[in-house]
Amino acid sequence: MPTQSVGRPMLLGGQWVYSDRTINILDPHDNSLVDIVPAATREQVETAIEDAQRASKVAAEMTSYDRMSILKKAAAYVEENLEEYAKLLSKESSKTIRESRKEVRRCIETLTLSAEEATRIEGETLSFDQSPSGQNRIGYFYRLPVGLIVAITPFNDPLNLVAHKVGPAIAGGNAIIVKPATVTPLSALKLAEAFEAAGLPPNILSVVTGHGSEIGDILVSHPAVRMVTFTGGLNAGEHIMKLAGLKKISMELGSNSPVIVLEDAILDDAVEASVSGAFWAAGQNCLGVQRIFVESSVYDEFLSRFIERTQQIRVGEKELEDTDMGPMITEKEACRIEEWILEALEMGAQIHTGGTRKGSYYAPTVLTNVPLDCQVAMEEVFGPVVSIFKVDSLDEAIELANGVSYGLQAGIFTSDIEHAFQAIRRLEVGGVMINDSSDYRLDAMPFGGVKGSGVGREGVKFALHEMTELKVVCFKLTHPLANKAKV
Ligand code: NAP
Repeated sequence: MPTQSVGRPMLLGGQWVYSDRTINILDPHDNSLVDIVPAATREQVETAIEDAQRASKVAAEMTSYDRMSILKKAAAYVEENLEEYAKLLSKESSKTIRESRKEVRRCIETLTLSAEEATRIEGETLSFDQSPSGQNRIGYFYRLPVGLIVAITPFNDPLNLVAHKVGPAIAGGNAIIVKPATVTPLSALKLAEAFEAAGLPPNILSVVTGHGSEIGDILVSHPAVRMVTFTGGLNAGEHIMKLAGLKKISMELGSNSPVIVLEDAILDDAVEASVSGAFWAAGQNCLGVQRIFVESSVYDEFLSRFIERTQQIRVGEKELEDTDMGPMITEKEACRIEEWILEALEMGAQIHTGGTRKGSYYAPTVLTNVPLDCQVAMEEVFGPVVSIFKVDSLDEAIELANGVSYGLQAGIFTSDIEHAFQAIRRLEVGGVMINDSSDYRLDAMPFGGVKGSGVGREGVKFALHEMTELKVVCFKLTHPLANKAKV
């Protein structure tokens, strides 16, 4: 029998339930207790999967009008309670109140886009007569729900990245179980509240709180689950891919995104966008600017302006309106950054600003002369650290940008259209932003990476495609449709 009776329950099988064990949700600012959630047991997860499998039949029978209406109402609910959502998001995560409001607004947009896409799940007619074997046949294909989807989400965008999975799943007529990050489950639970208020039939959406290392394996390997959509780090992603077996998979993983600044760039724009891209959410952002390659003729000027702008970032308490950057998600993460920087410095890197830690806070940090084989250059830093490299040409910048195992997005600042097209063609990434940093995303655009950055695409319409199956229909006619043409 579940013994927890305090804190916030999770949503399983259409019921808000507790568990025997609990997880304390702490504010990364000072480790104060924000709330308590259940740590789901394996038995609870199995029951949730069985319930959700039954619910997937109900979801598939909902008309697209019903799906659209529910998604619109859920978006309206979040909008009506925007400030409450933003405060909760900011409290459990490392985002400032302004960053949190932006994420809530994006969540509303993601749900609204999902409502629109629910009415546009289209197929095509097929020209069966293109082959002699297709004579007297006519047909088409259309899209059907996948069934039961499991979504596993990370800590850094705890609301909108959940919406990016729940919105398209419901638009496509699926049931979905969300397992949010253990450190930030409250925004996902609050999003479930919006769907309940919007009248989503019970069981179609479950939010199970618990440790990925304990309940992740059942969620991803259960045969009733027809798709796993994961956003998170490379290690967990690779583990899940091996375990999932024969089901649809979407993997939105990390990166160490490059930005190229050429001598014909508008430097003010390049500095402003790259500083924002490097330090948004304390650098805990899959699109965050991590490596900047600057052409030698503008390197000194870019570097000095970049350092000056970085030093203006106001680090502090998340709820204050004038704070620009909050803490790392945990002190342990801030200590990891400290170790990685120490390694870079020992290998010859130079630090220009930052490089200090206080609890879970790490100061915005700018490095140069970073050896290419140290962790801050090769791996995903996922913290407020940027490395700036001097290059002699666009060719060199592209080669260095591609010389890592990730490839999510890249940015290039240039006024030369030929340079822009060179970069577009040759950068090994899922998206290239011209005259912007890697850190630009529209929730409607196809979003995802190549190499270690993932498999598949999100962005509402594209996630919806991944969350549906094609079914082809072919009529064989007894009487020919047309007389044979006389030649
Ligand atoms: P993470 O440690 O990989 O965790 C992500 C999710 O996976 C969490 O819910 C986690 O649960 C769960 N998990 C961990 N091990 C698991 C297992 N063995 N089986 C099933 N689930 C498991 O990532 P994070 O630190 O939360 O987030 C940061 C990462 O996400 C970065 O690499 C970032 O680049 C990436 N990210 C990518 C995108 C994108 O769209 N491409 C967007 C945002 C973030 P627990 O919390 O219980 O461990």
